[in-house]
Amino acid sequence: MSGIAMPRPDEAVLSRRGEIVRALKEMVPGEGVIDTDIGMRVYETDGFNAYRQMPMVVVLPETVEQVSAVLRYCHENGVKVVPRGAGTSLSGGALPLGDGVLMSMMKFNKVLDIDAANRAVVAQPGVTNLGITRAVEHLGFYYAPDPSSQIACSIGGNIAENSGGVHSLKYGLTTNNVLGLEMVLITGEVIRLGGKHLDSEGYDLLALMTGSEGLLGVVTEVTVRILQKPETARAALVGFPSSEAGGQCVAEIIGAGIIPGGMEMMDELAINFAEDFVNVGYPREAGALLIVELDGPEAEVDHLLAEVEAIARRNGATSLRVSTSEEERLAFWAGRKSAFPAVGRISPDYLCMDGTIPRRALPQVLARMRELSEKHGLRCANVFHAGDGNLHPLILYDANKPGELERAEDFGADILRLCVEVGGVLTGEHGVGIEKRDLMPVMFSEDDLKQQQRVKCAFDPKQLLNPGKVFPELHRCAELGRMHVSKGQLPFPDIPRF
Ligand SMILES: Cc1cc2nc3c(=O)[nH]c(=O)nc-3n(C[C@H](O)[C@H](O)[C@H](O)COP(=O)(O)OP(=O)(O)OC[C@H]3O[C@@H](n4cnc5c(N)ncnc54)[C@H](O)[C@@H]3O)c2cc1C
Repeated sequence: MSGIAMPRPDEAVLSRRGEIVRALKEMVPGEGVIDTDIGMRVYETDGFNAYRQMPMVVVLPETVEQVSAVLRYCHENGVKVVPRGAGTSLSGGALPLGDGVLMSMMKFNKVLDIDAANRAVVAQPGVTNLGITRAVEHLGFYYAPDPSSQIACSIGGNIAENSGGVHSLKYGLTTNNVLGLEMVLITGEVIRLGGKHLDSEGYDLLALMTGSEGLLGVVTEVTVRILQKPETARAALVGFPSSEAGGQCVAEIIGAGIIPGGMEMMDELAINFAEDFVNVGYPREAGALLIVELDGPEAEVDHLLAEVEAIARRNGATSLRVSTSEEERLAFWAGRKSAFPAVGRISPDYLCMDGTIPRRALPQVLARMRELSEKHGLRCANVFHAGDGNLHPLILYDANKPGELERAEDFGADILRLCVEVGGVLTGEHGVGIEKRDLMPVMFSEDDLKQQQRVKCAFDPKQLLNPGKVFPELHRCAELGRMHVSKGQLPFPDIPRF
């Protein structure tokens, strides 16, 4: 493990391990509890695999009643809980705690209701992202947010991380496509938010829960919006001499009022790694590659493609291919979608960063990133959701070489500081987890962070759900003035309390 510290395991809880495991086995009988070293080993890390930590015990509930009983027990007995979906988080969100229960939600794997009339699907949280589309494609529908990990990641994990994908530019992130949730709070209370209807009553708690990284409750059911598949979708593969020229083209496409279904960019290193991996004819000599997808009625797509082509040529495009079949369109995307595994083949290890910048800052940020690459002596391949300004620099390193992980982390931290410096934010879609936790003060003041923790305290006053993630410093809820009692008197005793 390198520079990121996790809360020290509580010896008092560890000394009660036998009793805790026995209680869990009663609540989740059969094969629902894993407490052997060998059985728990697969849960010791997630997609942020530079960090590992064995859990105290793993529990795999199958029913909402079991989730509720386990959480209530943990709340009453002061035991920490880390919810987990498929374990693909790139920010260490599902990293276990040595004195905590790891709650895997992967037995919640059923699509419960397909409702074409309301354009909604109700599913359990362990269903994969792609599983939702697979369940409805025979009706001509699909689920729009499409993380590259969609074959594996769970819809519950998507909610917790507010995940996005190449089609989020036009169709939004998870938060724009979730209609309802069932969640269990740490007290065991089951709550329902939203539903198949378009608007909810009261405060928008659905938005609060989306992206809450397993800190506020455990998702046990989701209702998501599905969309009708567009009549036509075609993609253009455009090569540019430099990322700056590609970035300028992106700005002009958006400035012309065109919102492509997806608009992704890769730099020279990423183009070549991806081409080695999938062999679909990416222009190896290009300094940057732009994939622009237009979707909708055929006539509209043809018209917009012609406009995109003209803008690309004006910005010095060196190559341009437009897909002529569905197979070719999917092949164009295959390289981009497998960019991470492609890099994994070339370099023993890589860190995938995730920061967001205003689109206009792209050329400046790319130039500074090249300087940072030299400063830290590590290569960096760039893939990014160009239309959204969401960057995914992949920092290549070798964990077996002493000091390289630390250098990679310093490089990554410099990139994220740069994102904030140019007016952007620390994350786009991978969450804060432990990866960006200690950088939160770069973006938020002490008061901002305390305010955010007050929300956490309202749902989880003992801070038992996924502690050590997101917040760089844990204040006790009492310190944040959640309910301060002095000499038996609450402050403002004249204010009615509910
Ligand atoms: C190769 C690769 C490519 C990727 N590409 C993308 C991409 O394009 N876009 C993108 O957004 N992300 C991407 N990711 C990151 C990752 O897939 C997403 O963050 C995904 O949403 C995580 O889902 P999961 O089921 O694996 O969740 P996990 O990794 O298991 O958990 C992630 C977080 O969600 C919480 N959580 C999980 N399930 C629940 C639940 N039921 N209730 C409450 N909290 C829960 C956990 O506590 C944790 O904080 C990629 C990852 C990999 C490895």
